[in-house]
Amino acid sequence: MLPDRTGRFGPFGGTFVPETLMAALTELEHAFAHARRDPTFQRELRELLAQYAGRPTPLYHAKRLSRALGHITVYLKREDLLHTGAHKINNSLGQALLAVRMGKRRLIAETGAGQHGVATATAAALFGLECEVFMGEEDMRRQALNVVRMRLLGATVTPVSSGTKTLKDACNEAIRDWVTTVRTTHYCIGSVVGPHPYPLIVREFQSVIGQEARRQILQAAGRLPDLLLACVGGGSNAIGLFHPFARDRRIKCIGVEAGGTALTPGHHAATLVKGRPGVLHGAYSMLLQDRWGQVLSTTSIAAGLDYPGVGPEHAYYQLTKRASYVAVSDADALRGCELLARTEGILPALEPAHAIAYLQHLAPRLKRHTLVILGLSGRGDKDVHALAQALDSHGRHSSRI
Ligand SMILES: *Cc1c(COP(=O)(O)O)cnc(C)c1O
Repeated sequence: MLPDRTGRFGPFGGTFVPETLMAALTELEHAFAHARRDPTFQRELRELLAQYAGRPTPLYHAKRLSRALGHITVYLKREDLLHTGAHKINNSLGQALLAVRMGKRRLIAETGAGQHGVATATAAALFGLECEVFMGEEDMRRQALNVVRMRLLGATVTPVSSGTKTLKDACNEAIRDWVTTVRTTHYCIGSVVGPHPYPLIVREFQSVIGQEARRQILQAAGRLPDLLLACVGGGSNAIGLFHPFARDRRIKCIGVEAGGTALTPGHHAATLVKGRPGVLHGAYSMLLQDRWGQVLSTTSIAAGLDYPGVGPEHAYYQLTKRASYVAVSDADALRGCELLARTEGILPALEPAHAIAYLQHLAPRLKRHTLVILGLSGRGDKDVHALAQALDSHGRHSSRI
């Protein structure tokens, strides 16, 4: 079972951090290994997920969407119905519980769209922990509503003004803070990225998505699915869905990345489609970089996908062909959003709208009765501002968004 003892998924993963962090990562690895085997921890987490976060989430048979796409059967895994509006809360609750076990009184986090910041601020409030969230100034402007939410929850939101003032710069700042506060502070990473053991820990906390979906699809359809689809930013909601099905080689897995405005450097965030291997934020994985190895800036209408790196396990899935990865443009994601809203009365976040758009593109080539599970990672409330702008710029000329 991967990762191996040094945190590698084949060639990817590992621990590329300053020496001062090694002790903390080892402590975290041991605490997690212990918690994982501890029935008390498992019960506490299960109860929190059920009573506080709202699990299990429904596996919803989207009949009108299925019909609109032709003769396939689509089920949506409804992570959008969770408390705080996305799958991020699964991980933040798990890591907060782990932090309490380790005796840490303070959580820090990085955030791009603000969803992981909100989930971590929520978990910190629930456990009475101090919380500081690092966020690029540009993202604070784009996601002003989530900044207010975090502050209302009692978190300090610290603006980051270096680099492009976005998620990767916020990650750098969080790592910098952690180096000096590591004895009292747990760094709550929001996706399956970063140094070992984070890709493992976050995968395990998010695998509840696929574990539930597996039980639910067997009950609802009487068989396993043919195809799993999910959007990929850092990759946590996709790994959470894929991992419990990974040994069923017959099931196809497709991760959908942000194609932005064009697949040219700086205009997208399609790391697996367009990147090359390199080191970022503590791990060796695929990375968007120029020919000198400098990290490229990214563009996406979905702030949660706007990141130049990706989890090492996805790089490994791509290398071994266990999953394939594609890119969908901003414009197509808007159409995916509209399709789900109009056929099912569900307004998805712009991130999973990429996966819906790809399914729309793929559907004509799928066999009759193909059984699909699509990970609906979050709801669209946070995106109404971006959607309103898109309506403004295109609405007068077209019936579409
Ligand atoms: C953060 C976020 C994502 C991207 O993160 P992953 O780690 O790739 O899952 C996708 N969807 C939503 C709704 C998000 O908030």
